[in-house]
Amino acid sequence: MEIAVFSSKKYDTKYLRPAIEAKGHQPHFLQSRLDDETLQLAEGYAAICIFVNDSLTARGIESLSKKGLKYVLLRSAGYNNVDLDAADKFGVKVARVPAYSPYSVAEFAVGLILMLNRNLHKAYNRVRAGNFSLEGLTGFDMRNRRIGIIGTGKIGLLTGKICRGFDSDVVCYDPYPNVDGAKEYGMRYVSLDELLETSDIISLHCPLLPSTHHMINSETLGRMKDGVMLINTSRGGLIDTVALIKALKNGKVGQVGMDVYEHEGNMYFEDSSDSILLDDVFSRLLTFHNVCITGHQAFLTREALENIAQETANNLDDFIKGVEPKGIIKK
Ligand code: NAD
Repeated sequence: MEIAVFSSKKYDTKYLRPAIEAKGHQPHFLQSRLDDETLQLAEGYAAICIFVNDSLTARGIESLSKKGLKYVLLRSAGYNNVDLDAADKFGVKVARVPAYSPYSVAEFAVGLILMLNRNLHKAYNRVRAGNFSLEGLTGFDMRNRRIGIIGTGKIGLLTGKICRGFDSDVVCYDPYPNVDGAKEYGMRYVSLDELLETSDIISLHCPLLPSTHHMINSETLGRMKDGVMLINTSRGGLIDTVALIKALKNGKVGQVGMDVYEHEGNMYFEDSSDSILLDDVFSRLLTFHNVCITGHQAFLTREALENIAQETANNLDDFIKGVEPKGIIKK
């Protein structure tokens, strides 16, 4: 079967081509993002493979299903960018890669914490510019600091586990607690209120759902400790960015590390260094010395890319063979 692979980069081609071809299928790599404007590129394919900033709306699914689309393969864990109701209605099957390497994202989240805490982003630039002053670079010991993990799935638990290695006090919240997992890693559940009000560092690891959209907003920010550090490696839409900027301006939030941004769709994964940045909210965020932004790269390790490629190929092959794939998303 031929499969159109959208938003493909060199690193996708490198890992996906051999994995899909080994199953006897033929990938066609397209650099374009898939959205309502580019639907025609997917016409005629029974299978398409998409990434986090491709978007498959109800309109897109209806239109492509009429042109033969049967399978959507997400090479991501999150699936907020696919209208699952429409997929169900039009008989389009959707699969994802639920766990390609939770280590990649957890390690990255901790990397952001350490970078912000010890001001490594500033130190790097200072030394290159011949400035060896240590003024303004003071951090804090991670030991005994309270770290609040929101969402204790695969990535959240591992992030907490790594932080326990620093002897931090790790608390967590999840509406579906994994009590044994948390206990094994030395973390304990508290209410969301307690987590928000008592944590020195808060790291987000829950999915973007209608119920979690803007869960970090002016009200929840207002309840946090003064100078709190906020880390988001999950999905940008969890944070109301305008409210966050206000909280940064008045010092409520001390430091922010974000690998994801709520309006990243038109920007991320592309080199736009020759273009004018049109997103004024994002531009304002970039002006804060205590905000570190990365372009959705937390997943980007060799191990993760290998697993994504292999699981995507397995999902496709299982669909074709009529077997339920491991990564199937059921409504
Ligand atoms: P997971 O499904 O294993 O865990 C998500 C957890 O969030 C679950 O335990 C769930 O019960 C919990 N949850 C649901 N609603 C919640 C709420 N309202 N409050 C608190 N917790 C809630 O997912 P995972 O593999 O750990 O991934 C977590 C998120 O990380 C994904 O949803 C994805 O958006 C993001 N992610 C980002 C990258 C990246 O490169 N930046 C890569 C992979 C995943």
